[in-house]
Amino acid sequence: MKSDLFEAPDYYHVDDLLTDEHKLVRSAAREWVKREVSPIIEDYAHKAEFPTQLIKGLANIGAFGPYIPIEYGGAGLDQISYGLIMQEIERGDSGVRSTASVQSSLVMYPIWKYGNEAQREKYLPKLANGEWMGCFGLTEPDHGSNPGNMVTNFKDKGDHYLLNGAKMWISNAPFAQVAVVWAKDENDRIHGLLVERGMEGFSTPETHNKWSLRASATGELIFDNVKIPKENLLPNKSGLGAPLGCLDSARYGIAWGAIGAAMDCYDTALRYSKERMQFGKPIGQFQLQQKKLAEMITEITKAQLLTWRLGVLRNEDKATSAQISMAKRNNVDMAIKIAREARQILGAMGITGEYSIMRHSMNLESVITYEGTHDIHLLITGLDITGLNAFK
Ligand SMILES: Cc1cc2nc3c(=O)[nH]c(=O)nc-3n(C[C@H](O)[C@H](O)[C@H](O)COP(=O)(O)OP(=O)(O)OC[C@H]3O[C@@H](n4cnc5c(N)ncnc54)[C@H](O)[C@@H]3O)c2cc1C
Repeated sequence: MKSDLFEAPDYYHVDDLLTDEHKLVRSAAREWVKREVSPIIEDYAHKAEFPTQLIKGLANIGAFGPYIPIEYGGAGLDQISYGLIMQEIERGDSGVRSTASVQSSLVMYPIWKYGNEAQREKYLPKLANGEWMGCFGLTEPDHGSNPGNMVTNFKDKGDHYLLNGAKMWISNAPFAQVAVVWAKDENDRIHGLLVERGMEGFSTPETHNKWSLRASATGELIFDNVKIPKENLLPNKSGLGAPLGCLDSARYGIAWGAIGAAMDCYDTALRYSKERMQFGKPIGQFQLQQKKLAEMITEITKAQLLTWRLGVLRNEDKATSAQISMAKRNNVDMAIKIAREARQILGAMGITGEYSIMRHSMNLESVITYEGTHDIHLLITGLDITGLNAFK
């Protein structure tokens, strides 16, 4: 079993900005990742399997619905605690963090915010304790960055709805018991529907051959005349703003998560640079390697401060979608660059599964694409500051 030597960098004493509760929540998540994730994750990534045995532990550290009220089984924490949990999990693996993000922000959040009381009571406690897993179907084979053009649709058949269409690239799809599915009604308006495994005509084939997020299960959602009970429609919000509201919450979590992946790469490279001898010196003594490490800690520190501030704004309910886009884009880009540089510091060892860096690097290729691509987040900032739409 591999030992996890991770020590979190905190160059600007960002810890001084955290409360005791934040630190407690983070340390529970950090210890759990060291104990349960690090020893097995490389093996599961190799096998391209999601380690389902982690589900209970994720629930126990509050990763399923960190900010969902306790009365519905959530952890009732603030946005910074939510972010810190995501940071620690992604320090272990982006795929495991994706599973938690989907469960919390893309499944529990819409049921909590857009659902009725009966739906909240039926689904949220089971999702919070991991008895049920959920997935979120927005992307379609022909509609990724432009989900508003989706073709998945449902028709009112009097006592039920009839759902047809397909979703693609859906995290957790192969094992989820419930899917939050975004589909258009007969007036072209987007609504969320709760589709349960076992409904006739609903299938979830797994997507294979991924070189990224290998420890996360991805699949399709296929709806072939699926009869949906009317009580399974989320009644309290419709239109594209409904799924986008969920994405705000998930993207915020990703901004923190990416810091975790970057910290792990930096910490690994720093330790290696002090141990690996070439030309009679530790490679960390060469200026070129110091430049890489110094730039990494600078970028991590900037991302920590940006994200902490965003967390404060989220706690005050003042963060805009565009601010969240900026943090998601900046932090994932920062992490992917750090992973590449860190890999080089490890030389040939960097490409092996002996170290986590190559896995982080491959994972981050998905993270930079999903929940809005790097380009799309730039266009969101562009639109926000100019008022001019460059999407179309
Ligand atoms: C591992 C993984 C898990 C995922 N999980 C989920 C999930 O759980 N649920 C879900 O609904 N989706 C999920 N996705 C899908 C993800 O959100 C989409 O892949 C993403 O939105 C991009 O869509 P696309 O892949 O169709 O790319 P496209 O939209 O086809 O984009 C291709 C390229 O064109 C660029 N582009 C597109 N439009 C513009 C424009 N207007 N201007 C400039 N450039 C543009 C993009 O930036 C990108 O570089 C997942 C994806 C992956 C890889």
